Amino acid sequence: MSKRDYYEVLDVARDASERDIKKAYKRLAMKYHPDRNPGDKEAEAKFKEVKEAYEILTDADKRAAYDQFGHAGVDPSRGAGGFGGGNGADFSDIFGDVFGDIFGGGRRGGHRQPARGSDLRYNLELSLEEAVRGVNRELRIPTLATCDLCGGSGAKKGTSATTCGTCHGSGQVQMRQGFFAVQQTCPTCHGRGKIIKEPCSKCHGDGRMEKSKTLSVKIPAGVDTGDRIRLAGEGEAGEFGAPAGDLYVQVTVREHPIFVRDGNNLYCEVPISFAKAALGGEVEVPTLEGKVSLKIPPETQTGRMFRLRGKGVKSVRSHAVGDLLCKVVMETPVNLSERQKELLREFEDTLSGGGKHSPKAEGWFDGVKKFFQDLNS
Ligand SMILES: [Zn+2]
Ligand SMILES: [Zn+2]
Repeated sequence: MSKRDYYEVLDVARDASERDIKKAYKRLAMKYHPDRNPGDKEAEAKFKEVKEAYEILTDADKRAAYDQFGHAGVDPSRGAGGFGGGNGADFSDIFGDVFGDIFGGGRRGGHRQPARGSDLRYNLELSLEEAVRGVNRELRIPTLATCDLCGGSGAKKGTSATTCGTCHGSGQVQMRQGFFAVQQTCPTCHGRGKIIKEPCSKCHGDGRMEKSKTLSVKIPAGVDTGDRIRLAGEGEAGEFGAPAGDLYVQVTVREHPIFVRDGNNLYCEVPISFAKAALGGEVEVPTLEGKVSLKIPPETQTGRMFRLRGKGVKSVRSHAVGDLLCKVVMETPVNLSERQKELLREFEDTLSGGGKHSPKAEGWFDGVKKFFQDLNS
């Protein structure tokens, strides 16, 4: 389906001012907003179209690019964030940003919309095992909750808040300054639009109170540092019964003594003896599900990486499972007895006079020789 012209979508002239564009957007967004058209797919599509047009045309750079190149000049899936994209934009955010000043400001003479509660962030530290397997956690969250005595109204039990007589509930008053009429927050009700004659004894008229709550949160298997889990409506309570904000659980995974994680893969180092590296054999390596046996072929050099398929981390986003990468590190033996040293010297003598036992050294000596030749030439 080809895209409609953004100006046409918003029904504005090509030279429309930002103000006109905003006005047109508000009008159309109100009309097509999903909250007003529940289940109406066509309205939802229209809403997305309108929002996209608005985002492009109110960004001076994007609008210029669009005017010059059309839809090819702007890609709304990048940057500005498509509708419901990863930027966390959702219907309630849109209501907060754009509709706030429709309902507020007193321009319509209606009541000021009480503010939605703030979003909260909770930093959760997990061990690697917990992150990989998933875990249920009880979180204790200090927050503002709706007052249970007055139900959020802020008024004493049995009474109710009355509309402010100064601003008639708009929360704003007009002041004259010379030729200009200036909107100001109402000094009587401080913008609330309501007067509480007898405040609630518990919350002292705020409608909210500090409270910590305990939430049981299921952390899905496979999460990693930087992932966050959104718990809708578990943030701070809104003003006077307005919707609560969201709670974001931000995950950090602690360093592990053995494993280093990179995406879905795990890395670890496995020390092996000189004899085992030379002769081959088996070593036990740890995985998150217990020990497994790793076969070391003869003549294994230090630093060689072995891949154990499917022993990594199961992705939280797909069914993909990572691998465990084991790097074998040859250990130089220490605390040798005289007898052991003797054996090694004897062994070393058997190696002299030929590079066939030392695949790396041969190449290395060649390199050194060439290096000096190049220096001298
Ligand atoms: Zn109260
Ligand atoms: Zn007032």
